[in-house]
Amino acid sequence: MKYISTRGEAPPLSFEDVVLTGLAPDGGLYVPENLPKFSQEEIASWAGLSYQELAFKVISPFVAGEVPDAELKSIIDASYSTFRHDAIAPLVQTAHNEWILELFQGPTLAFKDFALQFLGNLLDYILKKRNQKVVVMGATSGDTGSAAIEGCRHCDNIDIFILHPNKRVSDVQRRQMTTVLEKNVHNIALEGNFDDCQNMVKASFGDQSFLPEGRQLVAVNSINWARIMAQIVYYFYAGLALGAPARPVSFSVPTGNFGDIFAGYLAKQMGLPIDQLVIATNANDILHRCISANDHSKKELIHSLSPSMDIMVSSNFERLLFDMYGRDGSAIKQLMEDFKSGSMSLDEDALSSVRELFTSYRLDDEEMMDVIREVFDHTEYLLDPHTAIGVQAARKTRRRQDIPMVCLATAHPAKFPEAVRKAGQDTDPTLPHHMTDLFDREERFDVLDNDMAAVQKHIAANVRA
Ligand SMILES: *Cc1c(COP(=O)(O)O)cnc(C)c1O
Repeated sequence: MKYISTRGEAPPLSFEDVVLTGLAPDGGLYVPENLPKFSQEEIASWAGLSYQELAFKVISPFVAGEVPDAELKSIIDASYSTFRHDAIAPLVQTAHNEWILELFQGPTLAFKDFALQFLGNLLDYILKKRNQKVVVMGATSGDTGSAAIEGCRHCDNIDIFILHPNKRVSDVQRRQMTTVLEKNVHNIALEGNFDDCQNMVKASFGDQSFLPEGRQLVAVNSINWARIMAQIVYYFYAGLALGAPARPVSFSVPTGNFGDIFAGYLAKQMGLPIDQLVIATNANDILHRCISANDHSKKELIHSLSPSMDIMVSSNFERLLFDMYGRDGSAIKQLMEDFKSGSMSLDEDALSSVRELFTSYRLDDEEMMDVIREVFDHTEYLLDPHTAIGVQAARKTRRRQDIPMVCLATAHPAKFPEAVRKAGQDTDPTLPHHMTDLFDREERFDVLDNDMAAVQKHIAANVRA
């Protein structure tokens, strides 16, 4: 299986090489050259498989033998062995034919564990085989950093450096990162905001000459193909549990960078009968504006109570547009060139294809808190703020009550106690057992100035020999 760039000008890569890369050299994102497709009979035969068994079925065609089956199976098993629930992705019913898919049972309490536990183990395997060492560098506004650190902490061939904006992530989020004391884990609290962190990471990928000889950077944000791939699995898992492929199923996805819902779109293209795919956004609503009014323009970032969706531009949207424009890399290159001005509009055909596939809805903080209250009042089920946005978007845009609606619960409410308290809960949601001592653990991190040379020097000095 080869992977090609959405901008058409970068050489195709093998599976292993695509895992070790960030952006393509032409600025595009990698996608599989041919998407695997499963027949209805084949999907039906997977009913009752464990999460891990199903993950092997869904993932192996993408790997196409580059990782031997037995190795791939043990990477999958190791990746989900740290989850707190045997179902890995359990479903909970909250209303008639409405289900919550709990994707927060992993070690860092957000759905990012599904992809990053897997990516860590996969990298470890590939690097050992190649006898290669790499540096993982990433920026986080909260959830990505802790999941990436958790995924890489035991990898001998990785040094991981995660930049977060100093004093601008929640205490729970910071401590999940900074209390990991392994020698290969480095937290940098940058004197700046999330954009400063991200810009520094982007620039460092562009010119990696600051790294010690023989090292390269590996990306752990959702431009890394392996992350998207691992997320396709839970769409099949939930679909099968609710009667697919004999019955269709719908999904509502709290969306930021468009990675998670893009995996849902791929599941549909691969044969899972998905009726609706709902893009749920907070006030940072570029995708909702694009779909409802063909207005894909950058606006000032709004700091919301669902911070993991506070994103100005959703980078994985480019992967969808590549398909919507008939996989014409030069069209995407032109579109992205136009977007440098801060805004772009889709052509009629592309826009109508997007509208056939997706519905969208936007909620601000007040509406989001109403949903947390309402769902708690009716069912005593406590939603995290991101999940609440997905639930309400589903309720507002749902076309058919007879098709199960699955709302992806992207985080555990205990990760966002401030929002939950503001929504009127008088006690903080309790952290799961393995984290009850989080506030007593020792922290380790370095506060650095918003200065590229200083950060790169710090990284070079701390990469292990
Ligand atoms: C990352 C994240 C999202 C957004 O997911 P994307 O793949 O970026 O669209 C939503 N909710 C939570 C809790 C997250 O951590």
